[in-house]
Amino acid sequence: MFLKRFGIYFKYLYPVRYQFAIGLLAGLIYAASSGFGLPLVIKYLVPLMTADDKPTGWALAAILFSIPGVFFLRAMGNFVNAYFIAYTGMHVLEQLRLMVFERIQALPIAFFHKNKVGDLMSRVLGDTGQLQSAIVKVVDSLIKEPATLIAATCYLVYLSTIEQDISFILIALASVPACVLPIKAVGKIILRKAGKAQKQAGELNHVLNENLSAIREIRAYNLEEREAARFSTACRDLLEKSLKVVKYDKVLTPIIELVTSIAIVFALYLAVKKDIDEGALASILAALYMCYQPVKKLGGVSNTIRNAEASLDRLEHILHTEDSVPDAANPAPFDNIKGNIAFDQVSFRYNDEEGPVLNGVSVDIAAGQAIALVGPSGAGKTTFVNLVPRFYDAVEGNIYIDGINVRDIAKADLRAHMALVSQEALLFSDSIANNIRIGKADATLEEVKQAAKLANAHEFIEALDHGYDTEVGERGSRLSGGQRQRISIARAFLKNAPIIILDEPTSALDAESEHNIQAALEELSKGRTVLIIAHRFSTIQHADSIFVFDNGQVIAKGHHKELYPTNELYRSLYDKQAKTVHETES
Ligand code: ADP
Repeated sequence: MFLKRFGIYFKYLYPVRYQFAIGLLAGLIYAASSGFGLPLVIKYLVPLMTADDKPTGWALAAILFSIPGVFFLRAMGNFVNAYFIAYTGMHVLEQLRLMVFERIQALPIAFFHKNKVGDLMSRVLGDTGQLQSAIVKVVDSLIKEPATLIAATCYLVYLSTIEQDISFILIALASVPACVLPIKAVGKIILRKAGKAQKQAGELNHVLNENLSAIREIRAYNLEEREAARFSTACRDLLEKSLKVVKYDKVLTPIIELVTSIAIVFALYLAVKKDIDEGALASILAALYMCYQPVKKLGGVSNTIRNAEASLDRLEHILHTEDSVPDAANPAPFDNIKGNIAFDQVSFRYNDEEGPVLNGVSVDIAAGQAIALVGPSGAGKTTFVNLVPRFYDAVEGNIYIDGINVRDIAKADLRAHMALVSQEALLFSDSIANNIRIGKADATLEEVKQAAKLANAHEFIEALDHGYDTEVGERGSRLSGGQRQRISIARAFLKNAPIIILDEPTSALDAESEHNIQAALEELSKGRTVLIIAHRFSTIQHADSIFVFDNGQVIAKGHHKELYPTNELYRSLYDKQAKTVHETES
């Protein structure tokens, strides 16, 4: 069971194989001294102590010190084994954690619609944590205990050959299956309960994560009590589910102790009947104890393993998720890109149950053109632009860049030729310079400044206390929306990609920011292919062409002058825009 489930991870032991070998050896020393050494010492010690001519002086000391001697070996073996096996276990776990994280980086956006952020965090941190504590708990038992069981059985065999009676071994061996049955039954229940508990831990994480990302909304709508109730329900559920795991985990040891105590009674009875000497009797009791101790511990370990299995299942869910946007097997060469983009009968839906979000879209965008995408909310504009960098793949039809199907281009190559400026410019908690450098990792400070100048960001950055070294705070919270936007435009300048995808902010910016951003964007558009999800009147007017989206289709294309008189939807959208602009200005 254990080997089948965890065996595939044994290859990760390779980098720590020497430490593993030391741990293994120490475990064997522990087992031999506990299971064999101790009963043996007892067997010869007790008769000496009860004999008529008892040893005295140095002889007595030497005999007595054989006990701490055996315990010393046992203790050393115990410690070295536990430490080195935990050492190797944690190294394997670290590799697993990294693997899961790297996998998350590679998975397509669609994966994140199906898996909540809180739950993913719980998997990467919580479930690996569960595995880690399981490793620490399990590893020192995994080698030591079975080996002790074998050593103690060996002692009983040895004793049987001297005493010429095999009944002692039979007693020891007969009670082992009686212990294994409850271990197996309880293990199955635990696997199920632990899976449920960990899932609930993910749910709790999700509630917390959602709460922490919406602190302002919660204050504004007085949702504190509702949130506390939601959190409390999730906590209570987790408590109940965790307690069930504890219950089954703890029931096993008492059962095994009962079974073994009965076996010990049988052994005593036999010993009295056979009339063996007290040394042998005491050593049998010691050996039996050393036999049952491992069975008991392995019972506990089996539960911990079941617990860990539930966590491993949840991690493997991430590792084994298929990439719905697979990278090209033989990527086409992709350089000197001009930036022509063509959609050929492209349809897309987010999931099979719902209707298409894009429906047979065919457009051809010449290199260097700036295209404004307009249309009512939900018409499919965002989806349209997300298909170009392959955040999703078209369900039907194809998309070409300079005549090459995007599916034949290595994803990293494809995305290296695009710059994305999103509505909510997201900054990392780092300095401003490094935030701009995301566009080009090895850019010099001069290049960064040049890009910031082009993005009309240089002046406000210089005016900050630490200039380009200013830390922006989590998610850029210390900067205004317009400033964040300009930093992300500077990124795009630095990246110098032939294709720009831009989601214009809907929220109103102050007039100066608005003007600065507009000017920066015009500069950025020069000589590049630009797709803008446009909300602003001025952007729409400046575009080379306008695509009007409705219900997943491009219902009209052309210049403002052509569209305004001929397309009703466009006219109404445009008039609404013009009206709001007029109202905010007056
Ligand atoms: P627009 O940008 O024009 O407002 P979108 O492309 O964002 O439109 O959305 C088009 C349609 O797809 C909408 O009906 C929206 O509800 C749906 N949609 C967007 N994202 C998802 C998603 N992750 N899962 C399911 N449906 C989605």
